[in-house]
Amino acid sequence: MSADSKVLIVTGGSRGIGAATALLAARRGWRVAVNYARDEAAAASVVSQIVAEGGEAFAIQADMVREADILAMFDAVDTRWGRLDGLVNNAGIVDESARVDEMSAERISRMFAINVTGVFLCAREAVRRMSTRHGGDGGAIVNLTSAAARIGAANQYVDYAASKGAIDTLTIGLAREVATEGIRVNAVRPGIIDTEIHASGGEPERVAQMREQVPMQRGGTADEVAQAIVYLLSEDASYSTGATLDVTGGR
Ligand code: NAP
Repeated sequence: MSADSKVLIVTGGSRGIGAATALLAARRGWRVAVNYARDEAAAASVVSQIVAEGGEAFAIQADMVREADILAMFDAVDTRWGRLDGLVNNAGIVDESARVDEMSAERISRMFAINVTGVFLCAREAVRRMSTRHGGDGGAIVNLTSAAARIGAANQYVDYAASKGAIDTLTIGLAREVATEGIRVNAVRPGIIDTEIHASGGEPERVAQMREQVPMQRGGTADEVAQAIVYLLSEDASYSTGATLDVTGGR
């Protein structure tokens, strides 16, 4: 690793898809800031694994519902590495299954605060640093959307699906806004991926239960999603912006 190595922030990098992305990006030469909200030990373990493999990383706590936390996270990366080349807007939540007519205002606000407002704020901070309009050297942003945005997640979490619909639109709009400023903005759309997010929504068996609805007849792995994310971050995807890559097993 050297001062020339590119710098990446992965939000929600402590577990699941974010952790797999942080590890794979580090193997491809990125220096990685591994963000987490609560699980410090999980973030520390991702950092240790990167360092053990000869990479460079540090863990940074920031709750995506707090603008001050997000600003402090970007400042910490500025202080440590003095550059930013990539952002993976991965942190996200689901909630327990509910119909729209059962949802509280607090639930809907929290869903949109983490899955939408936090993503906008991180994108804003990244553009302020990477855009040639602001004196930056360009970079890449990858947002995590979901197959739920296409199918609506009826009777489960329409609020989550709608929050990811907002991410689809952000990806297209921001991509066009910064297309001449050296920044590519793309999204990855996972289907049913085997991570802890399903248990957090009260459905630990969801991947096994949904398997038969997937044309490939299986859930995906966090590594399979990370491969798509790291591809879109890389120069191999130099002519792709505003694109969304499905990683859904055909669903
Ligand atoms: P996960 O295993 O539940 O991990 C979530 C990550 O986000 C953790 O690192 C967690 O940090 C972090 N996080 C949660 N709330 C946060 C907050 N307020 N501020 C900062 N970080 C926060 O989730 P995953 O399955 O890997 O999902 C990652 C992304 O992929 C999400 O955007 C999700 O919507 C999307 N996705 C997942 C699937 C799937 O089937 N798994 C499908 C489609 C889309 P802590 O460890 O500190 O809690």
